[in-house]
Amino acid sequence: MAEPHGAKFADPELPDLDLSRAALFLDFDGTLVDLADTPSGVAVPSGMPDLMRRLDAATDGRLVIVTGRPISVVSQFLGGYEGNVIGCHGAEERYDGETNPHPLAESDVVHRLGDMVEAFAATHEGLIAERKPTGVVLHFRQVPEQEPDAYAFLHALETAHEDFDLHHSKMAYELRPKGISKDASIKRMMKTAAFAGRCPVFFGDDVTDEPALEWVAGQQDGLAVKVGPGETGANYRLPEPAAVRDQLELWLED
Ligand SMILES: [Mg+2]
Repeated sequence: MAEPHGAKFADPELPDLDLSRAALFLDFDGTLVDLADTPSGVAVPSGMPDLMRRLDAATDGRLVIVTGRPISVVSQFLGGYEGNVIGCHGAEERYDGETNPHPLAESDVVHRLGDMVEAFAATHEGLIAERKPTGVVLHFRQVPEQEPDAYAFLHALETAHEDFDLHHSKMAYELRPKGISKDASIKRMMKTAAFAGRCPVFFGDDVTDEPALEWVAGQQDGLAVKVGPGETGANYRLPEPAAVRDQLELWLED
């Protein structure tokens, strides 16, 4: 009989964690909540806002949501969450109640790129354009066969706009300002007085999370947790968002 999947290559169980000594970085989509067919379609469990409040308290304000979404959108999904966020992959940051947008946020060039990608999506059934304060995403989750067209269009825009880079994420392509990434933001935050000396913890599911997962796994006492299947530089793995929420509850009980 074939071995059940995972029996042979079991991932190590996550260790106990003293949250008062941790800096807890959490991706949102695919990590705290299951992915949905459309960006607005995610279902947020009713206990999530309370879970975030308790984690924020237990870490004494060192909880940071690290997401590709705008801060305003993820805050709304989390029931009016007012805590720390690295948003738009690092193009926006909110720390201690203060928001620092990227210089290109809501700029003319971003609006123009948004218009062009929206017009393209409008003539290609199933493609979805998602505007962000600092860029634009083209989702092809509903029409995977259109990936080459989506890529070709955004690649042409990237070539014509030298301040922007093209990024590939799960079933989507995204244009955002150069030099921006989740790992760059996490590394910078870990150097600030408030975070230095804390044990870095990061949960993420996507290819765009890999540089940060690898970096955290290489830090002393760093806990990098890959959510779901796929190759990773993380040192731990959980199968799905429900398991992430259970793990966080477990650490809160300790
Ligand atoms: Mg994700």
